[in-house]
Amino acid sequence: MDFLWDLIQQSQLQAVRTTADLAESTAKRTESKTDRQQHQLHDLECQVERLNLVVIALCELITKSGITTRETLQATIDEIDLRDGTKDGRIHIAPSTCPQCDRPNHRLRTHCLYCGAMLEPDSFA
Ligand SMILES: [Zn+2]
Repeated sequence: MDFLWDLIQQSQLQAVRTTADLAESTAKRTESKTDRQQHQLHDLECQVERLNLVVIALCELITKSGITTRETLQATIDEIDLRDGTKDGRIHIAPSTCPQCDRPNHRLRTHCLYCGAMLEPDSFA
């Protein structure tokens, strides 16, 4: 009887250990994924800051050199902002659909990300 009881206890203990190992493995994968995503977010923030710096430099150059005025530049920004139908200080470019595989692609892509088919050029931008 004791032998049978020990066997059941060992079996249950092993099941608990296996579950704990799986949970630990899942937690490590999740932590690793979170670390990667935080790194990607940091990279994107750095790219946005760099782009912002370049845009500010270009705006100052073209206004100081007399190519355009700040008012004309702002009017152009507003006109481009409205191309997606909403004046919100951003430009949303809806994805296009690949004619071959029917998957969504960024409108500025020339070839499908998934199947490589040539995409129609877009005049949105
Ligand atoms: Zn495709």
